[in-house]
This record gives sequence, C-alpha cells and structure tokens, in this order.
Amino acid sequence: MKHIHEVIFFDGRQALGQTVLMYFNETGISIQQSDVWDANRPVLFFAYSDCAVQMVADKAHVMLNKKGTQYMTLPANSFWFPELQAMLNRSNPNLFARLFRLNAFVLLALTIIVLAGAYLGFTRLIPMAGLRLITPEQEMKLGEQFQKAFLSGEAVDSLKTKQLQSFASTLQLSKTYPIHITVVKNTELNAFALPGGHIVVYSGIIHAMKDADEMVALLGHESAHVNGRHSLRSVLRSAATGILVSVVLNDVSGILAVVIDNASMLHSLSYSRSMEEAADENGMQTMVQNGINPLGMKKLMLHFKSAEAAMPGNYSFLSSHPDTDSRIKHADQFAATHKNSSFAPKPVLDSLWLRLKD
Ligand SMILES: [Zn+2]
Repeated sequence: MKHIHEVIFFDGRQALGQTVLMYFNETGISIQQSDVWDANRPVLFFAYSDCAVQMVADKAHVMLNKKGTQYMTLPANSFWFPELQAMLNRSNPNLFARLFRLNAFVLLALTIIVLAGAYLGFTRLIPMAGLRLITPEQEMKLGEQFQKAFLSGEAVDSLKTKQLQSFASTLQLSKTYPIHITVVKNTELNAFALPGGHIVVYSGIIHAMKDADEMVALLGHESAHVNGRHSLRSVLRSAATGILVSVVLNDVSGILAVVIDNASMLHSLSYSRSMEEAADENGMQTMVQNGINPLGMKKLMLHFKSAEAAMPGNYSFLSSHPDTDSRIKHADQFAATHKNSSFAPKPVLDSLWLRLKD
C-alpha cells in the first residue's frame, strides 16, 4: 500500500513550484504531476543515491538530482518526513560517513603538509635570519661560550696552544675574526672551527703532520669555515628545531639556552659538501696569500687518507666529507696552477713549527 503525499516540486525549468503527488519506497522517490495518482500516467523516478536533504527554515528541501536543479519542498514537520530521511540515510549508508572520513583525511593531510612546510620553512629561515641578525662581535661572544662549554670536558695542552697560536699569528687568516687556537690532548686526527674565530686542534693531528705547510693548510681550511660563518650556520641549523620550540613557547631565554646546548655537539657538526669545497678553495687561497705552497693542502689530505686507511676511525676532517678523492684532485689542480710560483722560505714559520713538533 502506497502512502502518497503532496509536495511542492521544482522541475528545474519553471521558477515556481507545482503541487504534485509523491511516494517513496525502498529504492527512491516517485513523483507524478497530477491531482490523483493514476498508475497509467508517467512517473518521474529519483534514486536515493542522487538525493540529498537540506533544511531551510521549517522546510525540507529534498534535492532530487546531484546538481540540485530539481527538488521538492515539504514542511519539515510532516509526520512521514522522518521515515523519508531514514530511507535516504539507509540507501546512502556510507555517504555521510564517507564524506566525513574523506574530509577528515583531507584535513589531516592538509594539516600535516602545512605543519611540515612551516617546520621546514622555519628551520631554514632561522639560520638565515640568525646569520643576518648576529653581528661578528656577537658571534665572537657566542664562540667564547661555546669554547668554554666544549673545553670543559677536554684536556687543553697549554704549551702547544701557545706554540700553535704563535705559529698562526705569523699568518693572515681572517680579516674579520681574531683567530684563537686551542690545542686539545687527544690522539684523534681532528680539528674544527667554532663560531667567531675559535679553532680547536687535536694534538693527534699535529703529531701526524710532517711539514709546516700542512698546518697552514689546516688552519687555512678551518679559518675559511670561520670566515664563511659555517659553524654558526651549522649551529643555527642544528638548533633551529629547539629555537622554533622556544619561539612557539615564547621562551626568549630558552633560545640562547638551546644554542648553548648545541655547543657540546659542535665537534660533530658536519658541513655541507659545498661548504667543505669552499673551505678547501679559500684555504688554499689563504695559503698562497701567505706565501705558502698550496700543495700543502694535498699533502694534508693524503696524510689523512693514509692514516684513515691504516686505522679506520673517526677522522672528522675527512669523515664529514665522503668524497676525499675528488677533494685531493681539486687540491692537486689548484696546486698545479701555482707550480711555477716561487715560494720564499719561511724560516720563522719553520722554526715555530719545529718547536711545536718537538
Ligand atoms: Zn672542513
């Protein structure tokens, strides 16, 4: 037995709706444009899967096609309306759930993308902003704190520190930063630059070197990291996440704390390959400017390489740069362009070197 109801039908052509007869069953909604239902007259059928309900004030608008060009309206308080709604929901059991799930997924994906983008943006932006905002003077102060923090756990060789400082003082290594060298008692072959002109050299590397030009190469390379602010850049990059957290938490004092915390990991900070190549190149320029044969850079690298091959370990000067052979090749090519240059003997430098090697 059909329950036939009167509704207002909008056929998509005429602006005004017309009163029609409607009944619904398990499959959909049937409409006949007549006053009395007549089985012999044409019927418009709308499947539930194309239908949707919108509430407009006290009226229910039942969209009959996906575009919503054809629809019917009925008083929302019609006694049979809940049953129609139930039919619609049952026929499209997953429609709303699906939409909801899709929306939730899209929202989640968008949120992740936006957050990841913001995170990556900030962690890149912070080093860039930091490099612009931090003056060389501030960097020197920061470097002092780093140096203190780092050296607190190391045995400083004060004699060799003095001797290597004297050695370095005969060289022009930086126009911006005073170069402060500290020699640490450690058999590891290592050296690294701290922000603001501090260079830490392990005694192991001095022991392994043969000639003064190798030390000039090392100091030239590390000074290039100083001049290029590479260590500040690395510190800011590695501290960026922590800085970001501090910024988000609006914890200004936390920002400096985070940066200082990173002092402990300075010696393991790795530079990008382009930074290393720049440090090699600029280091060799520094050698030439100081009247030192740039071949010393190649000698230094070969020495590292053979030492590393003999006793694989943590040789940070090389281990942070995987492509040692290409660096050696580059050093070789650079030296070749200076092979006809004459490099005057450096008796003062040599005697300072011999004292250091003693
Ligand atoms: Zn380096």
